[in-house]
Amino acid sequence: MAEPCIISVAITGSVPRKKDNPALPVSIEEQVESTHECYEAGATLVHVHVRDEHENSASDVWRFEKLQEGVRKHCPDIIIQFSTGGRGRSFEQRGAMLHLRPDMASLATGSVNFPTIIYENPPDFVRYLAEEMLKYDVKPEIEVFDLAMLYNAIDMVRDGLLKPSPHIQFVMGVKHALPARREILEFEVAQLKKHLPDATWVAAGIGRHQLEVNHWSLEMGGHCRTGLEDNIRWDKNTLAKSNAQLVGRVAELCAQYGRPVASAKQAREMLKLRPSS
Ligand code: ZN
Repeated sequence: MAEPCIISVAITGSVPRKKDNPALPVSIEEQVESTHECYEAGATLVHVHVRDEHENSASDVWRFEKLQEGVRKHCPDIIIQFSTGGRGRSFEQRGAMLHLRPDMASLATGSVNFPTIIYENPPDFVRYLAEEMLKYDVKPEIEVFDLAMLYNAIDMVRDGLLKPSPHIQFVMGVKHALPARREILEFEVAQLKKHLPDATWVAAGIGRHQLEVNHWSLEMGGHCRTGLEDNIRWDKNTLAKSNAQLVGRVAELCAQYGRPVASAKQAREMLKLRPSS
């Protein structure tokens, strides 16, 4: 049987705003509800940022705590992944919620230009986040925006800063970082298989590249990421109605490629996570 596909959904992010798409979940209540709908549509991993009343990126630990509590209550076995992303948060704040022990947290293993800012991840900070994740048994999702980040992750496994079977996300289509080109993804996956044969991977296409990258991932045996953080549109002319609508589209694609949609239990086993509590 073909390998089940884990559908990840990035429900909010730090960039889109309600004026871009009113369906964007921003308050904690909206985020919990959106996660629940996505879970019912086939998502088994939710990637979360938290925002304040003005929709700005927030760093308050209590928001992460409340969100995690709400999600656990409504979808007990979904995999929760906190973002340690940068926008508007200090280095210290970016790791301050890891003691809440989400199942996973994102970890970018290098710096890169984004459309209007530098996404700063200096070496000492990357090491600090990796050590915190080891301490609290939080599995990192390594975010690869640029090729060097992949090789840095390989070195970090060698140095014991990452466990030997990391989960890697290849991000494509962020302006100033790697473009969404299939041959780049093929090269990345081939390098990953050569150097870290036990690793798992997912790819994310940003904006109009989302669906295209979903197709490539399914064909190449990877997992899929979707959600309004990466792309607020359904197609060129229409906004997506919800995160769950985007998840549903990926679930249908899985069938097209003969890939079963992973259950939460299967996803936890594939990612070698602790069972849901
Ligand atoms: Zn994010």
